[in-house]
Amino acid sequence: MALGPPPEEGTVTVVVRVRPSMPNERERAAHPVLRVLDQHILVFDPEEATGPSGSVPPFRGHKHQGKDLKFVFDRVFEEKATQEEVFQHTTREVLDSVLNGYNCSVFAYGATGAGKTYTMLGSEENPGIMYLTMVELYKRIEARKEEKSCEVLVSYQEVYNEQIHDLLEPKGPLAIREDPEKGVVVQGLSFHQPASAEQLLQMLANGNKNRTQHPTDANNTSSRSHAIFQIYVKQQDRVGGLARDLQVAKMSLVDLAGSERASVTNAKGERLREGANINRSLLALINVINALADAKSKKTHIPYRDSKLTRLLKDSIGGNCRTIMIAAVSPCALAYEDTYNTLKYANRAK
Ligand code: ADP
Ligand code: MG
Repeated sequence: MALGPPPEEGTVTVVVRVRPSMPNERERAAHPVLRVLDQHILVFDPEEATGPSGSVPPFRGHKHQGKDLKFVFDRVFEEKATQEEVFQHTTREVLDSVLNGYNCSVFAYGATGAGKTYTMLGSEENPGIMYLTMVELYKRIEARKEEKSCEVLVSYQEVYNEQIHDLLEPKGPLAIREDPEKGVVVQGLSFHQPASAEQLLQMLANGNKNRTQHPTDANNTSSRSHAIFQIYVKQQDRVGGLARDLQVAKMSLVDLAGSERASVTNAKGERLREGANINRSLLALINVINALADAKSKKTHIPYRDSKLTRLLKDSIGGNCRTIMIAAVSPCALAYEDTYNTLKYANRAK
């Protein structure tokens, strides 16, 4: 089967999503630290937030500096952006690439509480990118079922403490193997064929219950694990399709661990190791994405082997794979440092 044109080498699309501030946040720190100018530009720590004659508004516990920094991204989603809008202008655009046989990946990056899980998984009333992707995929496959037979399988796994666990049929740790034909393979990982998008939602919800949780966590959420939802699309031409023409592409939708510094969590002993390891996968991913950004101008070594996460996604980032980074940020002054760090990182990844 002929492949469509390959995407531009190592393309990384970087978008930012600003989540709405919560009522209790607005009470505690009134001034947002972000101003979205248009669909591509946002200003961090806008000058005017300092108020008349440079008086500092009642921010608590952060250094308001009036940095007034302008950032430009492929897209900026303001607080009111819907799940559908975020999907339309990010992941939907790479579905063609997947159906043309290229692996793609979409990451939600950001501090804990910035909106990563909401963006990728969402809620029952507002399902996120994982669900919307499957709905759109089923729709496109249906539209061309006369010409092509297509099989869709999904898996859902977690990288936690540099170990891989299956979230749909809880087991692990699982080993990674590189297969000359199949690419990266996680040994023993279960594959599933959801009968409908609704059934998929149920599967994801159950899978999420299996994410590693620690009752001692301040917010009792799985902020330290990376959750990786993968969709495998196998296609074959109906007319004259030979077995060797089977085309397989993989799409990875990843809800990353929180990007805040491990030191903030006051981790000790076992938890410190855990924190260090999680940073290892996240840092390795950051390095891979940065190396890809640099590789645009010169040939650079891409350090995929440095962590479980980057080994797992080696065949899905860089090369001819489209990659989308969705940086999630809070507009609230309480998250000043996290938001600043996330924007700086996202800016570097372009
Ligand atoms: P993270 O996964 O990055 O730690 P969450 O996705 O859990 O953060 O978001 C933190 C909280 O903010 C949750 O209660 C979530 O429902 C809410 N939230 C995040 N983004 C949005 C949004 N765009 N619209 C409405 N609520 C949101
Ligand atoms: Mg989360």
